[in-house]
Amino acid sequence: MDYDYLIVGSGLFGSVFAREMTDKGYKCLVIEKRNHIGGNVYTYNEEGINVHKYGAHIFHTSNEEVWKYINKYAKFNRFTNSPIANYNGELYNLPFNMNTFHEMWNIKTPQEAISIIEKQKEEAGITNPKNLEEQAISLVGRDIYEKLIKGYTEKQWGKKCTELPAFIIKRLPVRLTYDNNYFNDLYQGIPMGGYTQIIEKLLDGIEVKLNTDFFTNKDKWENIADKILFTGMIDQYYDYCYGELEYRGLRFETETLDIDNYQGNAVINYTDAETPFTRIIEHKHFEGADSPKTIITHEYPQNWEKGMEAYYPVNNDKNNKLFEKYQKLAKNENNLIFGGRLGMYKYYNMDQIIEEALKLVESEIKN
Ligand code: FAD
Ligand code: UDP
Repeated sequence: MDYDYLIVGSGLFGSVFAREMTDKGYKCLVIEKRNHIGGNVYTYNEEGINVHKYGAHIFHTSNEEVWKYINKYAKFNRFTNSPIANYNGELYNLPFNMNTFHEMWNIKTPQEAISIIEKQKEEAGITNPKNLEEQAISLVGRDIYEKLIKGYTEKQWGKKCTELPAFIIKRLPVRLTYDNNYFNDLYQGIPMGGYTQIIEKLLDGIEVKLNTDFFTNKDKWENIADKILFTGMIDQYYDYCYGELEYRGLRFETETLDIDNYQGNAVINYTDAETPFTRIIEHKHFEGADSPKTIITHEYPQNWEKGMEAYYPVNNDKNNKLFEKYQKLAKNENNLIFGGRLGMYKYYNMDQIIEEALKLVESEIKN
């Protein structure tokens, strides 16, 4: 065999694994079907602005080891994500906090907020939330659910909130303080200069073949290395033998505008059901880029179909059960490992991806 590891996918998972294993003396080859490295964290510079090609990427973690790890590859700024929600022209602060409650109900104290939320939860008769709708109402009440959650979530996932798992909404903090920080993590920031430099450094000195889809020459790639790390879709690897897992697609529309400030914030969410996009990102605000122009991206959720990029796994019970069947096949493999958001079919953030990749390195070197 020419290589110890063939790594399919140059996203964050594949790149961390490739770096670590190379540093431990293993010979790695990375193949990537896109025309660039980095997967969904890829950024490029235009007009002096680092553009997050695949949507806003804000690094946040409470894992000390992961924070130290990523800081070896870039200097981070102290960006705090504070998106604004636009509901039919009404603006609200996110995540759900005293600013939101003041804007929604014109109240001022945490006690007032608690009593409104409790009343709305009681009126809805929810004791043990079983889906995203019930979870949302029990966390923030019906008004906020109707204006800031229902429309956005149903656009984002293409399903009714009653058909979605509760955990999705628990990603967002609910706070009884006037604090618009979208994340509770200890560390948060944007790598100054963008994410691509991180991937470039991770892959430094490692052979990478772009525009190379594993499936167009499966036989060749299966016989080139002792082991394969596959970070693409696990159901595709097994030729959908148990049926298709569900994914959510996205379409990004990016444009350069001849003004220096379009919306005054990095992220504005459009939470009504009618606006077809979920959010507008204004890239320069992530790093405070000094440019006379600005670049914005509208993010449109899409039904996923074969051949499209799969951006989100849809981790409801039905899909998780199907994934378990594929996972059983994967467990019987000796020379094949699945990793990353698509290989592990989990709604992982970047920090969790690094954590999982480092765990895999540990288990590989033990074997
Ligand atoms: P990917 O980035 O998907 O990489 C997989 C790579 O494998 C891709 O480059 C793909 O082209 C390649 N590949 C797949 N199949 C094949 C094949 N057959 N042959 C060759 N190559 C193949 N996380 C955060 O922490 N903070 C955020 O703010 C954040 N925002 C996000 C916003 C959006 C819109 C999305 C979609 C994700 C966001 N994430 C965020 C999550 C983050 O993008 C992921 O955690 C991370 O990129 C996953 O890395 P990965 O390597 O597993 O997957
Ligand atoms: N969400 C919402 N309204 C918002 C923002 C988020 O209802 O204004 C819900 C929605 O269901 C979304 C989930 O919270 O899928 C998680 O949001 P997050 O910002 O973490 O989504 P991501 O950036 O991963 O797409």
